[in-house]
Amino acid sequence: MTLQRAPPLPTIQELIRIYKLGAIKRLSQNFLLNQSAIKKLVRCAGDLTDCHVIEVGPGPGGITRQILSADIKHLSVIEKDERFIPILKSLSAGYKFTGKDLRIFHGDVLKFNMAPLFPFEEKKKWTDLPPNLHVIGNLPFNISSPLIILWLRQISERTGAWSYGRTRLTLTFQKEVGERMVADILHKQRSRLSIMCQHLCDVTVKHVIPGKVFVPPPEVDVAVVHFVPLKYPRIEQPYHIVEKLVRHTFHYRQKFCRRGLVTLFPAELAHLCDEMLSKADVDPTTRPQELSMEDFRRLCNFYGMYCERHPRLFNYYYRDREPDLSCLQGLTIDSA
Ligand code: SAM
Repeated sequence: MTLQRAPPLPTIQELIRIYKLGAIKRLSQNFLLNQSAIKKLVRCAGDLTDCHVIEVGPGPGGITRQILSADIKHLSVIEKDERFIPILKSLSAGYKFTGKDLRIFHGDVLKFNMAPLFPFEEKKKWTDLPPNLHVIGNLPFNISSPLIILWLRQISERTGAWSYGRTRLTLTFQKEVGERMVADILHKQRSRLSIMCQHLCDVTVKHVIPGKVFVPPPEVDVAVVHFVPLKYPRIEQPYHIVEKLVRHTFHYRQKFCRRGLVTLFPAELAHLCDEMLSKADVDPTTRPQELSMEDFRRLCNFYGMYCERHPRLFNYYYRDREPDLSCLQGLTIDSA
């Protein structure tokens, strides 16, 4: 089949004017209309030849057009704002001539199962090279953190888009959030997000787009972050164990790590926290941002071992008024 060019389409600026598409603040709409910035963002995804791509939040379709101009096999887009659906449909019709298939889904990406959008034939084993599948998005700021947390869980559990193997992601975040994601040990931005991202993925800030390039411009610059899920996660515990331990560790950023970790245990069993630190060979006076990935790995292994043998420990939450402690009497790491 001879592939043809798409017929000339109105520019994104013209479409926004014709359809009267003012940005809606509630949906964190900051459009990227600058062609060179769009090209750079899509280039951050790497070679898209023969890829199946999902774009999150296509809006008026600037990034969508750029993805379609690559030698991709197929593109699906997920957009919450129905005002953009007619524009995306006309884009889809325009690109039909080129043999490229653009499928449009109107919905909330936070509730969307992306797995059926990829073809079964592209499935790879987790330890193989990443499949020819990619998720790209200039994400709305208001959902970017909950979305990446949701997807990190799916990466850890190998579900959704990650039931096909190590599907790569290229996404935008506020620059500061991107810096937290890649922050190394001792870095002032080192946080819960750094550990959660880095223990599951190779994470890189590929590019920073100045805020002023967007319409309307956000008050901050924007980082383009690339994620490649790791063949072997750096912490081998289930997601919920890692997430809880890391969250509690960073509860008190300026204090010693013991201050946060001890909240994993009822006050009567605080000595277990000391045993855990000692067995994991972690100095209790280390600050959270001074802990290495290896420290977190050992701490999670001990905490996971406790929770496996005494599942109700995981449900203990230090802010509950009357936690049920009966299952925990006499528990020590040695006895666990
Ligand atoms: N991709 C376009 C661009 O770069 O010009 C628009 C980016 S704008 C930052 C975010 C887009 O995500 C908007 O089109 C917005 O309507 C859409 N959006 C917001 N919340 C969403 C959600 N929960 N699910 C899917 N799309 C969403």
